[in-house]
Amino acid sequence: MTAAKPHRRLHVKADGRKLHLYGWQPHTLAPTVEIEPLPPPDPHSRWHPLRREWVTYAANRQERTFKPPAEYCPLCPTQAGGFAGEIPFEDFEVAVFENRFPAFHPQAPEPPVLPVETAPARGSCEVLVFTPAHRGDLAGLSQARRELLVYAWADRYVELLERDGVQCVLPFENKGEEVGVTLHHPHGQIYAFPFVPPVQQAAAATFREGPALARLLDRMGDAYTVAARDSMVAFVPPFARFPYEVWIAPRRPLPGPWAFTAEEAADFAALLGETVARYDGLFDRPFPYILSLHAAPKGEERTFHFHAQFYPPLRTAEKLKYLAGVEQAGGAFLMDALPEETAARLRAVAPR
Ligand SMILES: [Zn+2]
Repeated sequence: MTAAKPHRRLHVKADGRKLHLYGWQPHTLAPTVEIEPLPPPDPHSRWHPLRREWVTYAANRQERTFKPPAEYCPLCPTQAGGFAGEIPFEDFEVAVFENRFPAFHPQAPEPPVLPVETAPARGSCEVLVFTPAHRGDLAGLSQARRELLVYAWADRYVELLERDGVQCVLPFENKGEEVGVTLHHPHGQIYAFPFVPPVQQAAAATFREGPALARLLDRMGDAYTVAARDSMVAFVPPFARFPYEVWIAPRRPLPGPWAFTAEEAADFAALLGETVARYDGLFDRPFPYILSLHAAPKGEERTFHFHAQFYPPLRTAEKLKYLAGVEQAGGAFLMDALPEETAARLRAVAPR
């Protein structure tokens, strides 16, 4: 993908979970203190016949870490003789490890027999730690670090999609307490599903019919653009469902970050940083959002057009958009801000 290839080190944690360390420098530190093992997770899925979608139950997730004080952050580097975090090294650049409280697991047991269809929740849940620093966001990371993140996403996509049974891989980042963040250390997650979730199913069906996103980019003009680079554009989609929703897409259709040229990887990394910087500048406060990466589910590589989507919950500096009756019960979104106007406002922000 990129011209320079980062280093990757695999460390198997004391409880058997895999930890991948990605770096522009080779990682050679000796492990420090390992976190205590937990009993194996036992998630399962149940079919919702009216919505035609899977609902997954992972009772062990009730125990997960909730807003720990900074000195007990499980994503900070673990010092020798110190509190045992998830990354048993005194330093790292980017780290990915299997979640201790997964909703999908490669060895999930057979599901219970119930009055509805059930399935084993066999997949995986990984945590992607952007930086050893406890505070910060995508805008504050160096461009080299963001490019390393893009490389790590591409590498995880390839490895997870190669697994039997994995149908779709979904990386995302929840940022801010407004979207339920319980750990403030900059990080994202990567879910590998044994099925294609409904949103990705609908997108894949659209792309099978034609290059919908490439056509949109051609027709859209500049009114929706927030920021752009030669190979990549950040824009408010004309059909945005959230105020200040932004998508980042390569100008040519490609299935996922693993197919990026070095220029596309750099442009994508730069636009991630610039979008978050514009968000933070918009109301002069850290801007909460859900960021998700949408790459081709297995078998859809020929037609799918990769892109990232940001869903911010803020309507104004203080007011949240709640998903209420119409959105929750009907899946039909109502908006008061027009995408043309929010795009112009984001364009006018001087990114910090
Ligand atoms: Zn931390």
